[in-house]
Amino acid sequence: MSRIAYVNGQYRDTREASVNIEDRGYQFADGVYEVCEIRGEKIVDLPRHLTRLQRSLGELQIAMPMPLNSLEVVIHEVVRRNRVTYGIVYLQVTRGVARRDHFFPIHTVRPALVVTARSLNFEKNQKTAASGIGVITIPENRWPRVDIKSIALLPNVLAKQQARDSGAYEAWFVDAEGHVTEGASSNAWIVTSDGKVVTRSADRGILAGITRSVLTDVIASLQMTFEERPFTPEEAYGAAEAFVTAASQIVMPVVSIDKHLIGNGAPGPVAQRLREQFHKFSAFS
Ligand code: PMP
Repeated sequence: MSRIAYVNGQYRDTREASVNIEDRGYQFADGVYEVCEIRGEKIVDLPRHLTRLQRSLGELQIAMPMPLNSLEVVIHEVVRRNRVTYGIVYLQVTRGVARRDHFFPIHTVRPALVVTARSLNFEKNQKTAASGIGVITIPENRWPRVDIKSIALLPNVLAKQQARDSGAYEAWFVDAEGHVTEGASSNAWIVTSDGKVVTRSADRGILAGITRSVLTDVIASLQMTFEERPFTPEEAYGAAEAFVTAASQIVMPVVSIDKHLIGNGAPGPVAQRLREQFHKFSAFS
């Protein structure tokens, strides 16, 4: 089945869809994106994703490409046209098309909007979660504005590839103070031996993950202890459990960090419980 993308006002077959070579997303990575999980044909936590999208755009002084309710219609339509029951929807907004020049365009240009959706393999994801993933740690080398969900992802791309080349799946960045910030495409968590669920504050150094924010609700409802503080790789090596969160993976257990086995080297009960319970606390639309 051919896939359909929404591109600047039209629903197009992805094989024919294209954007202008002078799109500032292409020239300067001058844009932002969002990824939402699709489950049972519904979009998970869309309002929170759209709030973050508006914030990212605001920080870059890019206008919303269309009113919020129209954007919701487009997103649902892309999911429907691609018949995705389980997968992800991706949306990207760039500053638009203008002759290449670092300054913002003098004349108002329309922000460019692309929305795509694709199916993921549910069983494969469950299998990965049942065995857990490996993580490596690497020095933080991103700009300080990682709170903006920018499409400028070169450090993240290099980090993920380095992880893969080392036989791992994710890379955790470690800042100048020796603390883990986050994964290249996920937020980082540990569980202490006395059962505290720990992740660093989203005030700085990380993207405020939507999965992260929903998970804090899950943790509170299950009356688990939540501790928002930074942790070092050394603390993580000795933790009872570790896991990462992202919209496409929800809660994904981590079973090794820099080749150190976490706990007994299998996904832990806290991560597994949080993964199972997660969708009871998310909003479907
Ligand atoms: N941090 C980074 C760098 C990410 O790329 C992602 C996933 N997009 C996350 C955290 C997790 O965010 P979310 O839970 O909103 O997917």
